[in-house]
Amino acid sequence: MAGMHKPPLPTSFTRRDWGRAALAMALAPWSLSAQQALGAPDDAKRAVRWQNDPFALGVASGQPRADSVVLWTRLLVQEADAALNAQPLAVQCEVFADEALRQRVGQWTVMTDAQRGMSVHVEAKGLQPLRHYWYRFTCGSATSPVGRTRTTPVAPDKAALLRMALASCQHFEQGAFTAHRDIAQQDLDLVLFVGDYIYESSNPRYLVRAHQGGVPKTLEEYRARHAQYKGDADLRACHAAHPWVMTWDDHEVVNDYANDRDQNYTDPQVFLRRRAAAYQAYFEHMPLRLGPDAANPANMRIHDRMAWGQLADIWTLDNRQYRSYHACPDPLKGGGRVVMGCNELADTQRTLLGMDQERWLTQGLNTSQAAWKVVAQGTQMSSTGLATPMGRSAFTDGWDGYPMARERFLQNIVDAQLRDVLVLGGDVHMNVAAQLRVQPNDEKSPIVASELVTTSITSRGMSETLAAQIRSNNPDIAHLRPDERGYTLIQITPGGVQSAFKTTANPAQSGSVFATQAQFAVKRGVAGVVKN
Ligand code: FE
Ligand code: CA
Repeated sequence: MAGMHKPPLPTSFTRRDWGRAALAMALAPWSLSAQQALGAPDDAKRAVRWQNDPFALGVASGQPRADSVVLWTRLLVQEADAALNAQPLAVQCEVFADEALRQRVGQWTVMTDAQRGMSVHVEAKGLQPLRHYWYRFTCGSATSPVGRTRTTPVAPDKAALLRMALASCQHFEQGAFTAHRDIAQQDLDLVLFVGDYIYESSNPRYLVRAHQGGVPKTLEEYRARHAQYKGDADLRACHAAHPWVMTWDDHEVVNDYANDRDQNYTDPQVFLRRRAAAYQAYFEHMPLRLGPDAANPANMRIHDRMAWGQLADIWTLDNRQYRSYHACPDPLKGGGRVVMGCNELADTQRTLLGMDQERWLTQGLNTSQAAWKVVAQGTQMSSTGLATPMGRSAFTDGWDGYPMARERFLQNIVDAQLRDVLVLGGDVHMNVAAQLRVQPNDEKSPIVASELVTTSITSRGMSETLAAQIRSNNPDIAHLRPDERGYTLIQITPGGVQSAFKTTANPAQSGSVFATQAQFAVKRGVAGVVKN
């Protein structure tokens, strides 16, 4: 068979280097520095000949800082190149200051192998603040597409502008990722993606295109699902155009999971193995600095904080990994459901973020010097309950299922006299603009923060009948529409936030045009969304 012979080792890479490399990887398989510590064989370029393009999953950048950014790719080793799976491969990453790729400002060589799914994470350091960079990867005979990224302003800078696209919920089967093509063409600093990047499940009612394989449970199956999503050219274009700042929600693992519990009440030890596989595959496909904890791959910290000069601090929260179990669950089928008269909701010990993450967020918010405090997380914070003869209803998977945790978050804004807190979310497949009060929908309770929730890239929304009931039962909601797909443009300046829900008819189709469904502003110093 052709291509079965092992390519020779790069000559400048000695046996001792390989020994050190193997040791470094074994000690810290997820550490970027362990991968990057390895020397760059200059002739690595000639060492590996590819039959198929190993860069078919594209390139991405993320977690930007003033002097660094994480650059990502994952080698897709297809059948004809299968022999390459057996050895570590050297991948070169180059960073340029110009689009013509004439001024190279950095070059890194990292090793990858099948154990890490042939994923490549480079922390490109020594960059200048608030500017674009271009990057590409090379492995042997193959060169990747060129990506563009952008650094943040340096902390003391009084940056005057931050432009973002907020996105979530991209069920592959339920529509085309045209929204990503549109985002790719926008003039932005970053993309903020708040969860449901992949979906594990299918709904045969809404089948525009099909998942390959069944519901993933193993590492190989989650890798294959991520690879299928990255096979979408619009999604790749959006990653290549902007750095992404990300968190996850449930579908990256399985619908409505809570901590170590899934909907089927699977033995937690069994479920945690599945969750670890999903987290590992997620990390392998995303431009993230932090990987799974080598000591316990079931845990992967994704919550993070970044600064946009003094204009904004942005927290990205993990709503899934540390939360209390759903309140008043159905003993036969777990996960979220609509409940009435559930006393467990009043339990102050219950938490959506986990107490450690909650304390970390509170401390960060209370000491932040930034003009805007942006809290990006997976779902909707404002209430969507309905008045019923048995009391007010609550959907237990969202913040309505953790009302005391929500109250702690909002009461802290009052107690610490915080201003200009903007909560961003996704998950609910509808555009929402809402006022956040310590006591939801209580006009006597002051508005303390503002909320914008983006509709889905593709995933179907609820019926207009239910949406109308939610609107009429929740005066805090200024806007709520589940009928269209898209994303949200957000522009932050010292004086205010300007947002626009950019949408297309459902389902999203290739070639869709995105129109402005509604625009909301938040004025500096005045909590609450205002339609304009
Ligand atoms: Fe979703
Ligand atoms: Ca979700």
